[in-house]
Amino acid sequence: MSELVLALLTWLSANTSYDIGFPQPNIVMTTRHNLCQLYGINDFDTCNASGLRAFYDKHLTIYLGMDFSMNSEHKVSGLLHELAHYIQYRNHVHDHTCLGHLEVEAYNLQDHWRREHGLEPVLDVFNQVLLEASCQG
Ligand SMILES: [Zn+2]
Repeated sequence: MSELVLALLTWLSANTSYDIGFPQPNIVMTTRHNLCQLYGINDFDTCNASGLRAFYDKHLTIYLGMDFSMNSEHKVSGLLHELAHYIQYRNHVHDHTCLGHLEVEAYNLQDHWRREHGLEPVLDVFNQVLLEASCQG
């Protein structure tokens, strides 16, 4: 796993202006239900409806679902998205940038990586507009 993370961090370094000179985050694979509870969703139906598959927390840990596989480029692109958040956080951009913009940036990096691997983008225009609108006002 650490070789994959290093490769993805190196890719992020080449495609952003962020510093990646930090220790690797912890990566934990856990069940969907536990993932939701760690995220703060306790209700099982809400958990299933949320589509939550991975997230990054401020304790420098990335949580992935048990269905993560290093052999799935689709899943790896999700890990890249979470690593983008890790690098944003390490570069202190949360201090002065709205979360919606950070989310769009993480999706754009993920979709850039996906294009390079022949995968369809995950962020559609509608959701991009919603995320950016959350930063106004
Ligand atoms: Zn995100």
